[in-house]
Amino acid sequence: QRLVATEEEPEEKMIEAALRPKNLDDFVGQKRVRKQLSLVLEASKMRGRSADHVLLSGPPGLGKTTLAMIIAAEMEAPLRITSGPAIQHSGDLAAILSSLTPGEVLFLDEIHRMSRPAEEMLYMAMEDFRVDIVVGKGAGATSIPLDLPPFTLVGATTRAGLLPGPLRDRFGFTGHLEFYSVEELELVLRRSAGLMDMRISTEGFGEIAGRSRGTPRIANRLLRRVRDWALVNGIDDINAHDAASALDMYEVDSRGLDRLDRDVLEALIHKFGGGPVGLSTLAIAVGEETETVESVAEPYLVREGMVGRTPRGRVALPAAWEHLGLEAPEMA
Ligand code: ADP
Repeated sequence: QRLVATEEEPEEKMIEAALRPKNLDDFVGQKRVRKQLSLVLEASKMRGRSADHVLLSGPPGLGKTTLAMIIAAEMEAPLRITSGPAIQHSGDLAAILSSLTPGEVLFLDEIHRMSRPAEEMLYMAMEDFRVDIVVGKGAGATSIPLDLPPFTLVGATTRAGLLPGPLRDRFGFTGHLEFYSVEELELVLRRSAGLMDMRISTEGFGEIAGRSRGTPRIANRLLRRVRDWALVNGIDDINAHDAASALDMYEVDSRGLDRLDRDVLEALIHKFGGGPVGLSTLAIAVGEETETVESVAEPYLVREGMVGRTPRGRVALPAAWEHLGLEAPEMA
């Protein structure tokens, strides 16, 4: 698996849980979302009501699950966690909803991947705290209305645009999470290093943060690899050079590009003169599936301004040449 993957690896669950901030004050960055959310929660507490439904959107690893846990903690409410793909039948959702306790927070990750019938059941549950449960099949089917206790739905999605309008409209508050700055990632790392009993210099944190692709999950993962490296090399006080050596060894470079990312840039520049070249040709050149290049490597390279998408194919932008230590040709 890639060290710079944004998704959580199964074996990371426990470690990630230990590093999660437990309240809004410990949650680094995302100032606007934090402020707005804090207001929503405060007002609900003053009214003595469960909080409005909250939709969190943003790429993986930026803190959506963490925020859901913080919402529950701040509301002093229990938290139930499920995900869109786990709810294929409306009956699955009915079972969860009807077993919620008053005030409970329901975290629904990847909410855009829920089935259509479940989605429709959710509309009514969110708005009226009621569901209609269908019993039986065909002509003999009847629907039984069931009242639900008040609850707070926290939905998470990688892109709010993937949600149908009626579902989006039922959230009282939508927070969009942005990629973190290097400075913010340094704070995330400082906090995690403290919890992991690691000693790292300020520049050392900077070195790791710069390779973390704006994503706390990746920052924490790189930090663990640096810890392994330092342990094996008998180093207690980690400086920038140590952090760089460790991450170079794992082939995560100074901008957070890994082997595959660099292969793509090198093929684009050395084999195709910087492009434009079609995606599938590029994929063949690096020996990967088109889908892998498109969904795994390309988004970050585009985000970093190294690769451009044009109607005639992919092109290497000046930043790509520069990153490989080459001089960019004059752009037409
Ligand atoms: P998502 O649900 O968006 O994929 P998570 O909430 O699971 O992301 O966060 C991934 C990891 O990154 C968690 O272990 C958490 O400790 C860390 N993390 C995320 N956001 C922050 C933050 N703002 N401050 C500190 N740590 C964070």
